[in-house]
Amino acid sequence: MIIFNDERCTEYGRTGHPERPQRIARTVPLLKERHPQWEWRRPNAASEEALGRAHTPEHIDAIRSSTTDFDADSPAYANIFDHAARAAGAAIDAARAAVNGERAFSLMRPPGHHATRDRAMGFCYFSNVAVAALDALANGAKRVAIWDFDAHHGNGTEDVVAHHPQIAFASVHQFPGYPGSGTRSFANVTNYPIAPYSPRADHVATVEHSLRKLLAFKPDLLLVSAGFDAYSGDPITQMALELDDFANFGKWLRELDTPTAAILEGGYSDELPELIDAFLTSWS
Ligand SMILES: [Zn+2]
Repeated sequence: MIIFNDERCTEYGRTGHPERPQRIARTVPLLKERHPQWEWRRPNAASEEALGRAHTPEHIDAIRSSTTDFDADSPAYANIFDHAARAAGAAIDAARAAVNGERAFSLMRPPGHHATRDRAMGFCYFSNVAVAALDALANGAKRVAIWDFDAHHGNGTEDVVAHHPQIAFASVHQFPGYPGSGTRSFANVTNYPIAPYSPRADHVATVEHSLRKLLAFKPDLLLVSAGFDAYSGDPITQMALELDDFANFGKWLRELDTPTAAILEGGYSDELPELIDAFLTSWS
């Protein structure tokens, strides 16, 4: 297992914000202690060219220069452009490692799957997984699948990849819930809305079905928007998954022949380090 991480991703935050530095700062030592054999790499920042495949020039400029918060969830932190470009670059690097036959995980913040082509929202500034998918296609991949099991609809990913003939996207998410979209499937996008407090077994079965359907697309690269906020103990959602379920998601990946990289999205409970470890341990 290769973990892409840059300790600078913990250098920003706002008191009381759930997307907080401790999410990463507490996960790094836990993984290093339990898995001394895993390889840690510092990611490259995404280039303007790579960001520009997913985002408008105006959006890239806004992330670089705005001093006004993008919305109540997405502050205009100092140096947020650099932080967001490193998170997007880590997704690219993880995807490239997967293409080279490694299992790779991007352990970075900010997350990305709510950032649309031209808007930062929901803690997200650049659409990390979509940037990585488009980079892979620009470098020889033919079909990329994106599997998003974060508790929130990956509306930003959907916005960027909709109708792309070489990308298949599936999102399993709470509805009703933030951001309020993801009830409709179309073209290359399959959405699986799940009602709050749905039975755990039903939720897990849906997540498994979404993966099987993506694999029918026969991707040569699978990217995972790995959010851990569908956990029963998460403070900002109403879902029922447990630690063992995330371990099972990792086990399913282990059984695949498809090159796979996972990119951290959400997950706001104090148990996040344990959930990530369960997922990665069973995958590795
Ligand atoms: Zn989420």
